[in-house]
Amino acid sequence: MPDHLSNSQINLYLNCSLKYKFLYIDRLPKPFKPSGLAFGSVLHSALNWFHKQKMNGNGVTLDRLYRIFDADWYCQKLDHAIQYKESESETSLVSAAKQMLGMYFQSPHNKVKGSEVPFTLPANGNGFGIDFEGWFDLIEENDTIVEFKTSAQTMNQEDADNHPQLTIYSYAYETLFGRPPKTLKIVNFVKNKKPKMIVLKTRRDKTHYQRYFSLAGEVLRGIQNQVFFPRQSFMCKDCEYDSPCRAWGRD
Ligand code: SF4
Repeated sequence: MPDHLSNSQINLYLNCSLKYKFLYIDRLPKPFKPSGLAFGSVLHSALNWFHKQKMNGNGVTLDRLYRIFDADWYCQKLDHAIQYKESESETSLVSAAKQMLGMYFQSPHNKVKGSEVPFTLPANGNGFGIDFEGWFDLIEENDTIVEFKTSAQTMNQEDADNHPQLTIYSYAYETLFGRPPKTLKIVNFVKNKKPKMIVLKTRRDKTHYQRYFSLAGEVLRGIQNQVFFPRQSFMCKDCEYDSPCRAWGRD
C-alpha cells in the first residue's frame, strides 16, 4: 500500500483505478511512452531551465532555449520508445513545442521565486491521513503559483476554477508559507494545428480544501481496500497496459 499520495496518483485512480494498480502497486514495466507524456515532460524541463536561468540572473536567448529542448527531447528518445498518435509525428510535435516556447519566451514575466519546488505535506495534519507529495512548477513574486498544462483542447475558466491540482497546491502553499497564494495561474499550451498559449487565473478557499480532502480520503480508502477495476475511456488509446488490462477478470 502507498506511503504517500500525489495529485497525479489521485487523478489516475479516479480516471482508471486498474491503471493506478498496474503502475503504482504492481509496478509493471511500460513497453512505451505515450507521446503526450514525453512532450509534457520535455516542455516542463525546458521551462524549468529557463526559469532557473532567470532566477540566477543569466541572460537567455530563444535559440538556447530551443537547444535545451532539443537535448531533452533526444534524451527522452534514448530512454523510451515513444508512441505517437495517428495524427502526429516527431517533427510536428517538436515544431509545436518550439512555437509554444517561443510564445512563452515573448510573453511578460514576473520575478521568479522558485522553479520546480518540491513539497511534502506530512500525514499528521494534512486532512487525509497519508503524506502528500507534489511540486510547484513555478512560484512567482506576489505569492503567485503557476502551473503549466499541455492539452489538446483549450482549457476555460471553469476548468481552472475546478482544477483539483490547484486546490491542493493552494493549500500546500498556505501551509508551507503561512499565507494563502494571492493568485493561482494556469499557463495552458494547446496542441492543436495552430498551437496557442492561454493564461487563466483563479483562487481557492477553505471549502475547496475540504472537498479535496474528502475526495483524497475516498481514493485512499479505495486503494487500501484494493478496489481496482478497468474504466474504459479515451485514455485507453494511450495506455501502456493494454495487455494486462485485457487479462483482467479472466482468472
Ligand atoms: S486500457 Fe484503459 S481500462 Fe485498461 S488499464 Fe488502461 S486505461 Fe484502464
